[in-house]
Formats: sequence, C-alpha cells, structure tokens
Amino acid sequence: MNPYEMACVQLERAAEMINLREDVVEYLKVPDRVIEVKIPVKMDDGRIEVFTGYRAQHCGIRGPYKGGIRYHPNVNRDEVVALAMWMTWKCAVVNIPFGGGKGGVRVDPKKLSESELERLTRRYTAAILPIIGPERDIPAPDLYTDERVMAWIMDTYSVYKGYAVPGIVTGKPVELGGSLGRKSATGRGVAIITREVAKLLGEDLKNLTVAIQGFGNVGYHAAKILSEMGAKIVAVSDSKGGVLNWEGLDIEALFEHKKRTGSVLNFAENITNEELLSLDVDVLIPAAIENVITKDNVRNVKARIIVEAANGPITPEAEEYLDKKCELVVPDILANAGGVVVSYFEWVQDLERYFWDEERVNSELERIMVRAFEDVVKTKREFGAILMRDAAMILALRRVVKALELRGIFP
Ligand code: GLU
Repeated sequence: MNPYEMACVQLERAAEMINLREDVVEYLKVPDRVIEVKIPVKMDDGRIEVFTGYRAQHCGIRGPYKGGIRYHPNVNRDEVVALAMWMTWKCAVVNIPFGGGKGGVRVDPKKLSESELERLTRRYTAAILPIIGPERDIPAPDLYTDERVMAWIMDTYSVYKGYAVPGIVTGKPVELGGSLGRKSATGRGVAIITREVAKLLGEDLKNLTVAIQGFGNVGYHAAKILSEMGAKIVAVSDSKGGVLNWEGLDIEALFEHKKRTGSVLNFAENITNEELLSLDVDVLIPAAIENVITKDNVRNVKARIIVEAANGPITPEAEEYLDKKCELVVPDILANAGGVVVSYFEWVQDLERYFWDEERVNSELERIMVRAFEDVVKTKREFGAILMRDAAMILALRRVVKALELRGIFP
C-alpha cells in the first residue's frame, strides 16, 4: 500500500466513526497545493545532474503549512502528500496553529559530497521559494536532513529577501535563531508518551524493556531520554542492522561507537532489523521509516506496547491486528509530535526575537505532550473499542473540521 492510500484509509475510518459528511472527507483527501520542481545540480566532476523535488501543502485551515523536508531515494509525490496530510493531523492533535506540509528531494544524500548537498539544497529552496515563507509554509528537518541543511535554506531565503529571516525554517542551528531543545524534541516527546503509556497501564517504566528501530536523531534521543527515565533499552538498529543486549545498552557509548564506525553493528550481539521487530520486549519503538510492520511480518511482533516514532511505520491492516494483540499502539501523529511542537516554539521565538532557556522549552513540551495524550485517551474512552490512531484522528478531525466550518468555503 502506498503511503497516500494508507493516509486515506486512516482518514476514512475515523471520519466514518464521527459520521463526517462524505463531501468533507473528499475535500480533506485532496492537498491544497503540490509542486514538483526540477533541481539541476552542478556536481563536483563538472557534470550536471537533475534531481526531482516536491513540496506538498495539505491543509492550511488552522495556520501556515508546517512540516519537514526529506532527502531519500524513495521520495515521490504520493509520499510527500501523505506525509503532509499526517502533519495536518499531528498539528491538530497537539493543538498548535499550523496546517500540514511536507517536502522532499528524490536523492541518496549519502552519495553526495557536502558541497553538492549544499548546491542541491539551495537550488531546491530557490525552486520552492514562491510558496514558502514564515507566514505561509515553514519547512523543518526530516529523514536525512539536519541543522546544516536548515541553515542553507535559511540563508538562501534570506539572500532573496535581502535580510535575515530566521522564521522561514525550524530545526536551525541555535546560533541562527534555532531553539534550544529542538534537536532532542521528537525523541523527548516519544519518551514522554512512553512514560504516560506506562502510567496509564499502571506500570513502572523502570521494569520495561525497550527495542528501538532506527538510531538517527529521533531513535537516539528517544533511547537516551528513556534510559535516563529508567527504562532498559535492550536493542537498537540502523539501516545496516541492529545490536541486542538483554542487560541493557549503554546509549552514549553506542552513540560514540556509531560515530566512529558508521553503524551500531558489533557493539553487542548483532541482529537483523527483522529480528529486532520480533523481539519479546515490553515496548517496541519503530523510529526509522514508513512501512516496516506490514501484514507479512506483523505476526512476528511480540511487544506489548508499540510507540510509533517514525511516520507511518505500520500499515493499517497490521495496526488493526496489533491493536487486538498488544496492550496499546500509540500512533505517529501523537507519539512523534514533540518535534513539531518545539518547531512551533522555535517559530514563535523567531517571530518575537526573544529566546527561551532550555528548561522552558522542555517544560512547555512536556505540558503539551501530556495534554495531547490525555485528550486522545479521553476521545478513545468516548468511543470504546477503537484504535488509539482512530481516537487521535477523531480529535484532529474535529479540530480541523470546526475551523473549516468557521472559515467556510470561498467564495
Ligand atoms: N519532520 C518532523 C515531523 O515529521 C518535524 C516537522 C516540523 O518540525 O515541522 O514531524
């Protein structure tokens, strides 16, 4: 199933539960705007290589479009539209005043030199420039983009404007108007939600074993903060494979090992990514990419609790199966919303030109994540036996549809 079909199935399910009008559902399936751009890059050897980029703006009813930019060989139109739609719901679940957007370039960034990556980023920024802006659409990091890429975007946009515009992107270096706590925010949000799940189930985080697929920015910070909270991280993987130690992994030492060797492999007993997904742990956190748990491997999953740190890691069919088998499956649009929440704080700080200390960022993030978790749990109770995803979707849909009713359809 492609991600856009997946996103539409999720939308239809929740819409039916609240008897949302069919015409409104159809309206929400279609993105407000999608652009496809040609990105010619002069490579280091003098050749011109042409890449394809996209920016999708799904729904701007509740505020400017917001969402990351990914550099990945699988990027395509359907994927960015689905990811933009998920951003609409995500921003609504945590109740921040943004709509959903997402962009991407079809490229394997690992094959580019630093200067090629910079030229690619600047040309892509120039190409999407007419539709982005601090009041219009605010990009951020996503798969294989980072602070450095955000700095190039900020610079390119600012050069066009003639003055520094920090509010054009979030996830920037702190020195350029980035927010303290942004880098760790998605992982911190995942950890907060996992802690709240344990509380809800009447368990102590200290007694729980955790496996995390993905050791990028999100997986690493989730692992680090969860282990600081007392959970035992027994397995972690990256795209090359994973490592397992039932006594618990030392996350900082593992991070250093990955920095040194390029992978987590050989830090402890090596396992494959498929083995990681089927470990008999309490908590499984897919924190890499979409579509990793599907109908083909879902029967192998033994975890009691699943927290989706990646966007779309579980297909709808697999999620329904897991919902019956597991105690709780926390959907991406709640579990990984910490990143965009602190992006919101960053944008607010940039617009006000007044910067917060890290303590304030983390405590306001905590407040918003806990409130969103409670709102979703309350919605789930209202409906009885529905997926936690359905509850999160219903909460989001109610907020989006209310705003649509108030604004009306132009003309
Ligand atoms: N790419 C992240 C996400 O999927 C963050 C988006 C943002 O901060 O705008 O939630």
